[in-house]
Amino acid sequence: MTSLGDLPIRDDLRGQKAYGAPQIDVPVQLNTNENPYGPSEALVRALGEGVAATAGTLNRYPDRDAVDLRAGLAAYLNHEAGVRLDTGRVWAANGSNEIILQILQAFGGPGRSALGFEPSYAMHPTISMVANTRWIDAFRDEDFGLEAQRAVAAIEEHRPDVVFLTSPNNPTGTALDHEAIKAVLSVAPGMVVVDEAYGEFRRSGTPSALELLPGNPRLIVTRTMSKAFALAGARLGYLAADPAVLEALLLVRLPYHLSSVTQAVARTALSFREELLGYVQELRATRDETVEWLRGEGFRVADSDANFILFGTFDDRDAVWRRMLDRGVLIRAVGPPQWLRVSVGTPAEMAAFRSALKESV
Ligand code: PMP
Repeated sequence: MTSLGDLPIRDDLRGQKAYGAPQIDVPVQLNTNENPYGPSEALVRALGEGVAATAGTLNRYPDRDAVDLRAGLAAYLNHEAGVRLDTGRVWAANGSNEIILQILQAFGGPGRSALGFEPSYAMHPTISMVANTRWIDAFRDEDFGLEAQRAVAAIEEHRPDVVFLTSPNNPTGTALDHEAIKAVLSVAPGMVVVDEAYGEFRRSGTPSALELLPGNPRLIVTRTMSKAFALAGARLGYLAADPAVLEALLLVRLPYHLSSVTQAVARTALSFREELLGYVQELRATRDETVEWLRGEGFRVADSDANFILFGTFDDRDAVWRRMLDRGVLIRAVGPPQWLRVSVGTPAEMAAFRSALKESV
């Protein structure tokens, strides 16, 4: 039998483990920050109609530049964040993971580096490695925030070609203020990516980095329809940036990377914006209640602007994780070693989480 080691695989991939959270079929799945509210009957019907309308043209390649969809995404961002973007400043791909890959293919690469502030999203270093970009770990503050001074010091020391700031941050839920992002923009020698995958869940008063785009052509803000739009299965991520950044991305994207079916599904979901963002409000409320409950029970809880909560601390978090799983509740052992992360589910799922946690500590 051939093993991987027998193949002439890239040297830097030897010994690597494939990334991914366990996909376990249990009643309460609160481990991958999915949106628990599946599409309504009306949305399911509209999605079917949208896909049916494209089905007859599947012999043709899709709109290579996804112009209608990008116009819809720009209009959505203008509504959500009070900014003024047009199609020429918004780009889309298969999930924000592909967006991140395209950014690194264009602005990273051999001989170049990318830097992020740990603990943060594990795919940033992983995709950097895949894109042959040297990864540099810098670190967040003790409370998982990021003071401007600390960020600036790390960037001045390492001079990375790409900086990743995740806000709200995964797995801690912490959002950054404009001060830190502006300080990073003022010293970064290359591109600055603010990953706002969880942007819509930010608490009122927390700003979006989209506001900083005018006058900052090296800023890229990434978003996804996986979370707020409850569309993780459809794979649609996007970014907003200067039109020159889009020109760079056109050089690395695969031709026809975004299928007609994906484009149709995403356009339909955008037209259900009001309904879908209503669930975001519910999730934010459920999150705040859960944070309060956890604190009331004596846990340490990181402030959360996201649809998940990092809480602790546990001497043996894996044992707690396992006992919860035995009770049908799947959460995630991720981030700093003594903490666990729970995604915000429906009120019924959170009730199951609370009782399983009480029995598991
Ligand atoms: N960025 C962050 C911070 C994430 O947590 C995730 C998903 N877990 C992604 C990007 C990727 O999301 P997607 O590819 O589904 O858009």
